[in-house]
Amino acid sequence: MSDDCLFCKIIAGEIPSNKVYSDDDVYAFHDINAAAPQHILIVPKKHLDDITHAGAEDQALLGKLLLRANKIAQDQGLTENGFRYVINTGKDGGQTVSHVHLHILGGRRMQWPPG
Ligand code: AMP
Ligand code: ZN
Repeated sequence: MSDDCLFCKIIAGEIPSNKVYSDDDVYAFHDINAAAPQHILIVPKKHLDDITHAGAEDQALLGKLLLRANKIAQDQGLTENGFRYVINTGKDGGQTVSHVHLHILGGRRMQWPPG
């Protein structure tokens, strides 16, 4: 837990969130400012500033996070028409919260290239 981190506070229940899933390692919740009809964030409970801070010791954790994201996408009915995963990283990547998070976006046709 990082004292100053919004998502660590959400994981700890200090800031409310609309929970989708939780286990010992990952937490998923609805994005407060949805960019698509369905917009869920899934985060490791372990604080990592961004994806580049993950090391070999995080390999299983990241695999678990991705497989859980797949399950959430399926449960949300997104797998038939497709959806998008996004991990914004750093300033140019548009990252605004320094706790690694995977966006699960679906429910509309996505554009490419991204803005
Ligand atoms: P990023 O810009 O990739 O760092 O994504 C951060 C995301 O966190 C944005 O989509 C925000 O809408 C979302 N967000 C910020 N504060 C909250 C909150 N309190 N609860 C849920 N989502 C949040
Ligand atoms: Zn954190």
